[in-house]
Amino acid sequence: MKTQIIKVDTSIKDWDKQLDQAAEILRSGGLVAFPTETVYGLGANALDKTAVEAIYRAKGRPSDNPLIIHISDAAAVKDLTENIPETAQALMDAFWPGPLTLVMPRSQLVPDIVTAGLDTVAVRMPSHPIASALIRKAGVPVAAPSANSSGRPSPTLAKHVIEDLMGKVDVIIDGGNAEVGVESTVLDITVIPPVILRPGGVTLEQLKSVLGDVIGGQSPGMSDMSGTPKSPGMKYRHYSPRATMLLVEGPPEQVAAEIGKRAELYNKEGTSVGLLVTDETAALYEPSLYSFCKVISLGSRKEPETLASNLFRCLREFDEKGVEVIMAETTDVEGIGLAVMNRLMKAAGGNIIKL
Ligand code: AMP
Ligand code: MG
Repeated sequence: MKTQIIKVDTSIKDWDKQLDQAAEILRSGGLVAFPTETVYGLGANALDKTAVEAIYRAKGRPSDNPLIIHISDAAAVKDLTENIPETAQALMDAFWPGPLTLVMPRSQLVPDIVTAGLDTVAVRMPSHPIASALIRKAGVPVAAPSANSSGRPSPTLAKHVIEDLMGKVDVIIDGGNAEVGVESTVLDITVIPPVILRPGGVTLEQLKSVLGDVIGGQSPGMSDMSGTPKSPGMKYRHYSPRATMLLVEGPPEQVAAEIGKRAELYNKEGTSVGLLVTDETAALYEPSLYSFCKVISLGSRKEPETLASNLFRCLREFDEKGVEVIMAETTDVEGIGLAVMNRLMKAAGGNIIKL
């Protein structure tokens, strides 16, 4: 398949005309990757079963992992759902457009392939101007998982989508950096109190300020990887760089010492090592480590939004350098830090040492 790359510049007059062709391709059953405020998405007409099947094929995504439907107008919720839960309106008012996905009872309009046979559907309204204009122009709800090969770190730049999906999709829209950098928060509002199925761009604290009571998301751990989780996607190893990854948690000086010791051992074996650190902790590592390790800082711990924004790009940078083992510090779980820790834990396949 020939993949067309369309670079969209939102600073020029009538910029949205640059999306006309991609919108037509979407409407008529093609696959279009596009930027959102969270990560890049791989979109298809959600009401076209054959088009949605092509998403699973292009990504190599397991068919039991349902997709989020993206809309540009909250009125579309009525068509996609039945018995809209009472909490929905307040959440949509507070967080849409934005990185919050609501899981609600589905309507018969939604093909089984989108929900992986569940009786619920996940819906979100993105705030990114390109995502929003594309969906509006296509005139159909758009099913869109992240635009990566299944299991790889999610794409935050068009070049990441090109790495994974070139030749497998019709169009890749290049709209620059996806700022939030982690996926949307998935919230199940079919139960009272609502349950966070995946922490993401809207924080637990923000949800509590609207709902009062919210369950889940406290543990960014791997407890949701076994059994039959409510959000099927959460059981898979995810977001992973090619390297083996290990997280080390504890007092910063001890973490740096432990990582340093292990890095020396790996280096003696001839294994190439990457270290994922933060601006505050970078100086705690022995200067000699910098000569044989690839060291990347996620940013400042004072700005958890920056850590989130940089995370997936940094994981892909280690891959570009051919690093075989990545050792990473853990982060605080306040605010969006919870989503960052969740992605780190998944990327590491639960591989963590607590000092
Ligand atoms: P992705 O779009 O690749 O970030 O993945 C979408 C996430 O939403 C996955 O973790 C899915 O399991 C989850 N999801 C989608 N639809 C539903 C649903 N109806 N119920 C629960 N989780 C869902
Ligand atoms: Mg994904």
